[in-house]
Amino acid sequence: MKKIDLLGLKKILIQKKTELLNKSNNSHGRMNIDSGINDVGDEIDTASQNSEREMYFELVANDKMTLNAVDDAIVKIEKSVYGKCECCRDVIPLKRLKAIPWTRYCIQCQEKLENPQK
Ligand SMILES: [Zn+2]
Repeated sequence: MKKIDLLGLKKILIQKKTELLNKSNNSHGRMNIDSGINDVGDEIDTASQNSEREMYFELVANDKMTLNAVDDAIVKIEKSVYGKCECCRDVIPLKRLKAIPWTRYCIQCQEKLENPQK
């Protein structure tokens, strides 16, 4: 891979990492406010808040996964092992890396992981 591409991708990864870290700091504050509301809310309000909260935790879990992948990708760039599929060890096309720089897998392996029945 060209060094210029690698540097561009690293920049995107660092931006994404900052974005995710900021987001998790903000949502932490929001969670504290939420628990305050819960104390005074009636049963119906609590129920709707619970489903919102489930969605919210799901989002946080996804962000954590992305953050891990972003971190790993930055480490891989530094170790010059970036751009290879963790599953089949094939080179991941640059087009895919530019779309999702923190991806761990090539398209074929990603599809297999997402749809194991196929
Ligand atoms: Zn692969």
